[in-house]
Amino acid sequence: MNPWIAKVIVLAATLTMIAIRAPHGRRSRNVKVAKSRKTSLETGLLVLAWIGFFIPLIWIASPVLSFAEYRLGLGPLVAGVMCFVIGLWVFYRSHADLGTNWSITLEMREQHRLITQGIYRRIRHPMYLALVLYSVGHALVIPNWVAGPSNLVAFTILFTLRVHAEEQMMTDVFGDEYTTYAARTKRLVPGVW
Ligand code: SAH
Repeated sequence: MNPWIAKVIVLAATLTMIAIRAPHGRRSRNVKVAKSRKTSLETGLLVLAWIGFFIPLIWIASPVLSFAEYRLGLGPLVAGVMCFVIGLWVFYRSHADLGTNWSITLEMREQHRLITQGIYRRIRHPMYLALVLYSVGHALVIPNWVAGPSNLVAFTILFTLRVHAEEQMMTDVFGDEYTTYAARTKRLVPGVW
């Protein structure tokens, strides 16, 4: 199948993600940060995430990664599009529910509220679930061994090295309110984990 189809799909998914995040990012930046746990590890993880994000765009725009190309199949393409659609919907819902209680890194804003409703009712990390689906979408749709898994590799490392620090920060700030919430929810998959 023509890889241009994959390029159009990946570009559309990327632009949709930016369109979802941009207004929320602007709104939450207007609320001051009250506490920050942005360590050098966090900075490194964010740089890694940006690299994972940009490699597919390099694949779209230039032939430098053409040595790693393989044939695009219909099955992975359809499965990847489904991951993008569900992932971007979950991404939108988690931003809408968190509102200004959002930050790209480990920070708490002034008057930060613990969100436990909406898409946060059964899982604690819906935005990360969205990013897993989005990254799997890339891995399935992009017929390239470098650009395909780049988001997934970067995000898996970020998630693995961040999730405990984030839950610790939430516990330190919200105490029993967070531990009770954590006890009745799962991290990523409702009823499973
Ligand atoms: N882990 C969450 C949020 C990711 S954004 C998810 O995947 O949906 C990371 C920031 O969101 C954290 O630094 C923290 O400030 C904030 N946050 C995380 N969970 C929250 C919650 N349940 N309520 C309010 N803010 C939360």
